[in-house]
Amino acid sequence: AALLRHGGDGTRLMQILREIQEQTGWLSPDILTRVAEGTRLPRGRIEGVAGFYHFFHTEPLGRYRVLWSDNITDRMAGNADLMARMCKKLWLKPGRVSEDGLVSVDTTSCTGLCDQGPALLVNYRPVTRMTAERVDQIVELIRHQTPLAEWPAEFFTVEDNIRRKDALLGADFQPGDALKALKSPQEVLDAVKESGLRGRGGAGFSTGQKWDFCRAALGSGANPAHYVVCNADEGEPGTFKDRVLLSSYADMVFEGMTVSGYVIGAKKGLVYLRGEYRYLLEPLNAVLEKRRAAKLLGQSILGRTGFDFDIEIHMGAGAYVCGEETALLESLEGKRGVPRKRPPFPVTSGYLGQPTAVNNVETLASAALITAKGAAWYKAIGTPKSAGTKILSISGDCERPGIYEYPYGVKVSQVLADCGARDTQACQIAGASGLCVAPNEFGRRIAFEDIPTGGSFMVFDNTRDMFQVARNFAHFFVHESCGFCTPCRVGTTLLANAMDKIDEGHGGEYDINDIWRVIRTLKTASHCGLGQTAGNCVADTLQKFRPSYELRLNVRDFEPAFDLDKALSKMREVTGRDDPGAHFHIAHRKSRAG
Ligand code: SF4
Repeated sequence: AALLRHGGDGTRLMQILREIQEQTGWLSPDILTRVAEGTRLPRGRIEGVAGFYHFFHTEPLGRYRVLWSDNITDRMAGNADLMARMCKKLWLKPGRVSEDGLVSVDTTSCTGLCDQGPALLVNYRPVTRMTAERVDQIVELIRHQTPLAEWPAEFFTVEDNIRRKDALLGADFQPGDALKALKSPQEVLDAVKESGLRGRGGAGFSTGQKWDFCRAALGSGANPAHYVVCNADEGEPGTFKDRVLLSSYADMVFEGMTVSGYVIGAKKGLVYLRGEYRYLLEPLNAVLEKRRAAKLLGQSILGRTGFDFDIEIHMGAGAYVCGEETALLESLEGKRGVPRKRPPFPVTSGYLGQPTAVNNVETLASAALITAKGAAWYKAIGTPKSAGTKILSISGDCERPGIYEYPYGVKVSQVLADCGARDTQACQIAGASGLCVAPNEFGRRIAFEDIPTGGSFMVFDNTRDMFQVARNFAHFFVHESCGFCTPCRVGTTLLANAMDKIDEGHGGEYDINDIWRVIRTLKTASHCGLGQTAGNCVADTLQKFRPSYELRLNVRDFEPAFDLDKALSKMREVTGRDDPGAHFHIAHRKSRAG
């Protein structure tokens, strides 16, 4: 049915596989063969895509699939003990499926619920605020094979947790406000440029310029077209502001997409929604339906002949790298999410090779507001180089985690005071790939000219071990590297191994120097931003929190990570030998002396 619904279109492979998996529970070899036949794509391509994404399963899973969010903030909130409790009660090892095929329990990267963790996904529905009591209740529900629809509704409550509103979250905005204010495409474009709006994903490219380049680019091939893409794949650990925008401000986001389509001459918009937000798909589709009924989407929007634009939502399937816009486009086209070479840039050759404007959720919401309220109003907020506001997702050691919107230029110290952080040792701003800020830097500002961020703001008080924070992020990048280029594929693993070695007490100065070498290689030789920034947190913590490394450096010289002598113990046991000659280090030393 999924193949039929999508007309066997291979560019919709992600959606086809997801819909089939939702019916069958996993993607069996037979299913992959049938999808290959139905889409007329090589079977290897189908298998390659199914194997690439964390949320596609080519092995059978339990009927209840539990995935514990494993961001550092979940760890700080005690997810490891709770997961161990769940596994013990279910007689299950993490990562395994129970013998009867009933349940599997594992971890996954940050699920965008850090303000109400520890959190987990069960069959991709989020359960927040996990406690020992809730673990016990869930175990019982699973044992009794209670359908999810009959689980207590409060388990699935996801709060917005908006703690501070400013120009965007506090705006008086009704659906259609921006569309009713539209002037000519050129005038709207000029207003967006004039407002100083810059991309909210973190890179900060001028939105007006991006739209201008895209508008000027010519489509190619038999079906030339322009596209608008909303990047709703917020996967940066500690970020959850797009979750809130899509839950409670979807009209504003969709209206921003429609404005973008009007300016660049696109008739179609695509939202790439991260797999972890699967539960938002139906509510978002309901908003789209309402907008179509109100003539805010579809043909002749607001009765204006020729103003046609519609939006479709595509689900991602758990790949952090797809937050990178060219990897996202590959994924939208039904391929593995491997970043493309640039140039050409998406504005000239994006979705299906056509000019495409890819913007962040918050950027598009801001564009709608600017169109409704004017460039001058917006430009007056923030700093000269960073107009407007920034929404921060605050989590970790603070009394009031949640969503905070500030005019650009707010000091880190102000944010910490507002969220009720005490004895703060560090803030990790902009996620695992971002900046680790020490107390002597708390006077710095959130702004493109100082600390740019996509919105993640994790707080660590002085009881936290910053080495472990960096180790968690090092492992995150191993998990999320797409494997395309060697510096990143190998470098992230080497980095995580070195951190583990130090953690186990086998590290010395040699390993620290090795870490610096790996970080340099990652930064300079990786193909995309993921690899280039994968060493940032280790580098920052090494510079700013060196004692947390020093106290683990027990080895003066070099000690190999692999203990050959220990590995030979089995053979000694089998051969019944335990004399000095059967021990590697003794024999080795003798031969060197001799
Ligand atoms: Fe993939 Fe990492 Fe290379 Fe980027 S840097 S292309 S994520 S392997």
